[in-house]
Amino acid sequence: MEDADAIENLPGVGPATAEKLIEAGFTDLMSIAVSSPQNLAEMADIGVNTAVKIIAAARKQADIGNFETGSEVMEKRKLVGKVLTGSEALDELLGGGFETQAITELFGEFGSGKTQLGHQMAVNVTRPVEDGGLGATTIFIDTENTFRPERIMQMAEGQGLDGKEVLSKIRVARAFNSHHQMLLTEKAQEIAREHNVRCLIVDSLTAHFRAEYVGRGALADRQQKLNKHMHDLQRFSDLNNAMVVVTNQVQAKPDAFFGDPTRPSGGHIVGHAATFRIYLRKSKGQKRIARLIDSPNLPEGEAVFSIVEEGVVD
Ligand code: ADP
Ligand code: MG
Repeated sequence: MEDADAIENLPGVGPATAEKLIEAGFTDLMSIAVSSPQNLAEMADIGVNTAVKIIAAARKQADIGNFETGSEVMEKRKLVGKVLTGSEALDELLGGGFETQAITELFGEFGSGKTQLGHQMAVNVTRPVEDGGLGATTIFIDTENTFRPERIMQMAEGQGLDGKEVLSKIRVARAFNSHHQMLLTEKAQEIAREHNVRCLIVDSLTAHFRAEYVGRGALADRQQKLNKHMHDLQRFSDLNNAMVVVTNQVQAKPDAFFGDPTRPSGGHIVGHAATFRIYLRKSKGQKRIARLIDSPNLPEGEAVFSIVEEGVVD
């Protein structure tokens, strides 16, 4: 527990404050050093003035002034895990599957397969590394009550896996509103400290926010909350070398508030925070088309895959 000791030894931090910080997910000096006082105060339930002092102390001790060399960044990139989807075409589009240390956004209309792909990734993450998984647990935040254990069983057994064992490696929570959704993200970080969690799925990322923050007057507030949420998700991904998958709907018809019907909700906030954006649309029958919209190192392109009883396949 080197990190915990380092936190407790910061000037102005006693055991009680250290515990609060760690509880809130600030488990190393760097996470404190890069936090804003308001955020630290709010999350760890301490005074803002205390937070300012703690952050200053953490900045002195944490090595935040250095730029990493390209080779060092490359070393960290080597730790990126990839999870196969079940469709070779989709894997290829994504450069070998869904990545850890990244947020992948799945957006598309109702029925385009966002939730199905989310279920599939939850199953596939449980597979051993040599079988294209991460041998790890998934946390699933379900905002629309569309998580179905039966579907997980079906997909798992479709791959010859033990459905019950796979289910035991998926932790699901319903989020009843956007605030709850954000709290559950913090809770996820607590769980990840004790379990090998390498995947966090938020399905749907935006539905509660859209429903709750209605009208132009609410837009700024909504975007601010969503921004914080995206930061928390990014942090989860960094701290756990985890893949974060979020779903987002596009509107079927034009909407004065949300604008262009073919654009995903959440505007720039979500778009900029997501590392990969995949636009899903229905094709004939079970066929789906995935379009990679935005990626730091992959070309744009499309892949066709299918959703069948066994799950995602070519
Ligand atoms: P959304 O993008 O709204 O989350 P979903 O991921 O829920 O969409 O996709 C729903 C579609 O997935 C259904 O219309 C159906 O085509 C397909 N689907 C769901 N369950 C199965 C199943 N057991 N077998 C085959 N296809 C399924
Ligand atoms: Mg859905």
